[in-house]
Amino acid sequence: MSQSQDTLFSKIVRREIPADILYEDNLAIAFRDIHPQAPTHVLIVPKEPIAGLGECGPAQHALLGHLLLTLKRVADQLQLGNGYRVVINQGQDGGQTVPHLHLHLLAGRPLQWPPG
Ligand code: 5GP
Repeated sequence: MSQSQDTLFSKIVRREIPADILYEDNLAIAFRDIHPQAPTHVLIVPKEPIAGLGECGPAQHALLGHLLLTLKRVADQLQLGNGYRVVINQGQDGGQTVPHLHLHLLAGRPLQWPPG
C-alpha cells in the first residue's frame, strides 16, 4: 500500500480506527469529528485518499459534487433545519491538519462570521 492511502481517514474507511459513522457509499463516508467544534460536527470524506482541495482538478469534478450532496444528505438526515456551515480547510494557513480531503459540517449553535 502506498503511503498516500495510509491516512488517518483511510484507516477509518478500512475500520482500523473506530468512528461514529453516519453514512457511507462507494465513494464517500461521513462520521462524527472526534473533537467537535459545535454540537453537530461531521466530516465528509472521499474514500479515495486525495490530500486536499488543492490536489483536485477536472478529474474530481463529479466527486466534489458528490461530496457536497452527501453533506446535504447527512444534514437532512440530522434534521439541521436551523442551518449549518460547510468548511474545507486547505493547507497550512487554512488550518488543515489531516492530509486527506474532507468537508466539515458544523451545526447546532449560531456560528460566528468571520471565522477566526
Ligand atoms: P482539518 O483540521 O484537517 O480540517 O480537520 C481534521 C479534523 O479531523 C479535525 O476536526 C479533527 O478533530 C478530526 N480528527 C482527527 N483525528 C480524528 C480521529 O481519529 N477520528 C475522528 N472522528 N476525527 C478526527
